[in-house]
Amino acid sequence: DRIISANLMMDEQAIELSLRPRYLAEYIGQSKAKENLKIYIDAAKLRKEALDHVLLYGPPGLGKTTLSNIIANELGVNLRTTSGPAIERPGDLAALLTNLQEGDVLFIDEIHRLHRTVEEVLYPAMEDYALDIMIGKGPSARSVRLDLPPFTLIGATTRAGLLSAPLRDRFGVISRLEFYTVDELAYIVSRSAEIFDISIIGEASMEIAMRARGTPRIANRLLKRVRDFAQVRGDGIITHEIAIAALELQQVDPMGLDSIDHKMLLAMMTTFAGRPVGLDTIAASIGEESQTIEDVYEPYLMQIGFLQRTPRGRVATDQAYKHLGLPVPER
Ligand code: ADP
Repeated sequence: DRIISANLMMDEQAIELSLRPRYLAEYIGQSKAKENLKIYIDAAKLRKEALDHVLLYGPPGLGKTTLSNIIANELGVNLRTTSGPAIERPGDLAALLTNLQEGDVLFIDEIHRLHRTVEEVLYPAMEDYALDIMIGKGPSARSVRLDLPPFTLIGATTRAGLLSAPLRDRFGVISRLEFYTVDELAYIVSRSAEIFDISIIGEASMEIAMRARGTPRIANRLLKRVRDFAQVRGDGIITHEIAIAALELQQVDPMGLDSIDHKMLLAMMTTFAGRPVGLDTIAASIGEESQTIEDVYEPYLMQIGFLQRTPRGRVATDQAYKHLGLPVPER
């Protein structure tokens, strides 16, 4: 059972890798972030210096990992990848840092989850390309400074607000990734279909794009499910009808909301009768983690204007009531 799931994971990873754009020019959307980065990358290359440290933030699946791969690629340097929770002790980070070559990129995903003691190692590393190591214990202990090669740290996080101020201040470039437009997502779907060698008609790409919550990872995931459906129920070609039928089967509604969004909105409208509710209360009532709701569900519901955060709690908007076919309450 474990072997099977491990294989599945590898399969998913292999697919993700094959779909990942490798150069800035192939990276669709995010024009603001892209334009800025292009200038900084070109300048760093001209001066033959390491690129300034970059912080990328935004909801999961918007392309932070992809973008950091592209940055390393465009700079022509190695990329080392790790994540906040994976670095348990300061020594683990020191080992990563001392193995870097000049100009390399170190990517730390979920950087807001770094342990405090590990984070402190990062400060001199980012600022002076140096490591402060304690030798010995007690009164004879002393600190030795070790030089590191100039490198670029790219940190990714779902919420920049969770980063400590000293860490945030050490990033020279801070870029927020935005939700993608339907047209951009439709383009990503067509591109992925081409890589998968699937025939898909334009309206079907648009249909998937409209239900992908502004998120490339979801667009690609939906495409895979629709492809399965087309192969089993159709003749392999993804028509508009096939796309709609497959997406309904996945319980993804025309706005891209799934069963959890529905449960959450319905709880707010019925159980809590439209009164402002706290995040933890919503989470408990539908049996989800607050963190998941805050990182994954809420940003998109707010983006499409279905949910508002007020000082007294979350409220579903009139639009959300209409979408779910419930009478809009008197406010
Ligand atoms: P994040 O790190 O923000 O969670 P990823 O970088 O892992 O997101 O992106 C998820 C998937 O979405 C990638 O495998 C990639 O195929 C696709 N993707 C992300 N951004 C883009 C983009 N701008 N253009 C095309 N595909 C993208």
